[in-house]
Parts: sequence; structure tokens; C-alpha cells
Amino acid sequence: MKTASNLDNLAPYLFAEIDRKRDALRAQGHDVISLGIGDPDMPTPPHIVAAMGEAIKNPANHQYPDYAGSPAYRTAAANWMQRRFGVDVDPATETLALIGSKEGIAHIHTAFVNPGEYVLAPSIGYPVYSGGATLMHAQTHFLRMRAETGWLAELDGIPADVLAQAKILFIGYPNNPTGAVATEEYFDAAIELCRQHDLLLVHDNAYCEIGFDGYRAPSILQRPGAKDVAIEMFSLSKAYNMTGWRIGFAVGNATAIDALGRVKNNLDSGQFTAIQDAAIVALEGPQDCIAEMCALYQRRRDLVLEALAAIGVECEAPKATIYVWAQVPDGYTSAEFTEKVLTEAHVIVTPGNGYGPDGEGWIRISLTTPDARLLEAVDRIKRTLG
Ligand SMILES: *Cc1c(COP(=O)(O)O)cnc(C)c1O
Repeated sequence: MKTASNLDNLAPYLFAEIDRKRDALRAQGHDVISLGIGDPDMPTPPHIVAAMGEAIKNPANHQYPDYAGSPAYRTAAANWMQRRFGVDVDPATETLALIGSKEGIAHIHTAFVNPGEYVLAPSIGYPVYSGGATLMHAQTHFLRMRAETGWLAELDGIPADVLAQAKILFIGYPNNPTGAVATEEYFDAAIELCRQHDLLLVHDNAYCEIGFDGYRAPSILQRPGAKDVAIEMFSLSKAYNMTGWRIGFAVGNATAIDALGRVKNNLDSGQFTAIQDAAIVALEGPQDCIAEMCALYQRRRDLVLEALAAIGVECEAPKATIYVWAQVPDGYTSAEFTEKVLTEAHVIVTPGNGYGPDGEGWIRISLTTPDARLLEAVDRIKRTLG
């Protein structure tokens, strides 16, 4: 049996090699702590779980959902955009329910990219931006990212022939894995580039609710003219500890929302309406669970920064996300330092180059490990590498 060539072109699973080493250490009886995975460890807040318990009893929810999302869910998402950002979107034409934002990011390629064309994507970033292009037999042009320019994917110097064949620009701030946040000027430059070259701008805003030291992330749709070129992907996964529920939404440019909706009509039949009902309660209910989560991650962030400082690794405190992005000590590559931390402290961190070549020399540490284990990991790093 011969599978499609695009499958062979997908990047290998980032964590495969680390998983192998972890399994070998565990087989030898070592207690390995993973700071590798970006999946919140805390449960979904009880009022959302309770809403699901009720929603699942409603027989109307047992039938096929509205493909684009229930009118109630789309209205709740639109109202949330207004409350949270002061942004107006029409629930009917500018809002679409997603089965997790990954689903929307993956399917937007089908709606916009022809075989052989290009998407523009950050050189260090969420693998689905380029993976979705590969699955369309399309190509990715990676935008350079550097510490000196605040990890803002660089928009100048894209070759003219690439721009002529490009269809989508992906960006996402607050950023996974660098923890960087965008400026208004950067958003404006991205909007202008897309306007000039007739590109769809996709802003991945999965981490907008996870901010520290008072930082609150913006929506790109707050910028003038954004809706002419952009859609924004939101996720309930990180904000409400709902990664397993698979629920998010896309908002913005009506043409793009319609196109994505038509792709989805042919591929899935929407998310379970009971989950949408619970998600409405998440968006409209008390938001103090978010403030508590941010305080928890901020405390963990500071523990990790302190441990890194103790072993001579200085790094900037991220204003947002669930990650610390740190430069490895002189004389090590990302892979070598990751290996050293694993073999000496039995702690897993993620090598930055796994996200793309511009991540070489950096590691990502995730803050989604329960406090006691994180403390133990931090302590081991200080003891064995300090
Ligand atoms: C977690 C994550 C998402 C998507 O999450 P869903 O669970 O699919 O909503 C999207 N983008 C980035 C950068 C992420 O880290």
C-alpha cells in the first residue's frame, strides 16, 4: 500500500527522541520529571464541569450539531470578544466554532492554499502552521526569529517570488514557545503586508488569557483595518484547562470565516453541542479561575527562573504563556544541554531547535507540572547542575 507523499514530508514528532531516552531512564528505575509538555495539569473549573453535566442530559444535544457552531455559542463568543477586547464581530458571519483551535489552524490551509503555493510561518512555532501546508502539497517559507527583535517573526526580506505565491501569514502572540508578546506596531506591519500582497493573516491567540505581572494580551482585531485581512483563532484549552474538550472559535474576516466553514462542512459536523453549552458557561461565567491560574503559573515561572539563575542561566521573565524560554549555557547546543539535564537531573526540557533552526541555543520549560513535582525538578537542577 502506498500512502500519499505529503505524509512522508511531515516533520518528525518533536518529542520522539526525548521520549525514547525518558523510557530508557525509567526502565532503569529513575524517577523522571517532565517539564516538556504544554498541557495544563489543573482540572477544568467545577462550574464548567457542572454545566457539562446538565448539557449532556438535554436530548436536543444528542443530535447533529449546527455545523458552524450553535447560534448561542457563536453569540457567546462574539459577546466575549466585545467584553474582553472591545471588538465587534457578527456571530452569524464573522464567528465560527472550532473543534479546538488546532482544527481551525489545520483546515484553513484547505480553504486558501493550492498545491505548490506558500504559507509564511514563524521559524520557531506551532508545527501545525507548516504541517497544514505540507498536507496540502504546499510549501512553507519560514520567517526569521531572533532574541534581538523580541522573537517577532521578521516580515521584511521575504523573496518576491515567494510573496507572489503566498496565501497565508501565520503569527501568534503571546508566543509558544518563546513567551514573547507582540507590539501594536508589529500587528500593524503584519496587517499592512497582508493588505499589500493579498494574503490572509491568521493570528493564533491561544494564550491571550495567560498573562503575568498585570499583562493582558490584545486581539489583533483591535488594530485598524485588521478585519479586512485577518482572522483570529481562540481556544478554551489553556485559559480554562479544557485541552481535552476540544473547543475554540475563529473570528474576523467574513470571507475567510465562510471559506473555513465550507471546508469544515465537508470534513466534520461540528463539536458536540453539549460541549458548546459548557463552553458558553466558561466564557460567560465567573472569570476568577483565570486570575487564579495566572497567579499559579506566575509563581511557577518565578521558581523556574530562580533555579535557572542558580545554575548560571539568565533569562527574561515572560509576560505571558505557560513557558519559560531560556538560552542554554555557553558551550552547549540545545540538544546537548537537554541531554545533560535529563541524564544528570532526570528532568525533561524541550530543545529549542525542535521548533526550527532559529531555536538552536534555547530550551523551553513548561510550567504545567504540579507544584510539588516542579519544586523537586527545580531542586534537582540546582543540586546536580549548580
Ligand atoms: C495549545 C495551542 C493551540 C491549540 O490548542 P487547541 O487545544 O487545539 O485549541 C494553538 N496554538 C498554539 C500555539 C498552542 O500552543
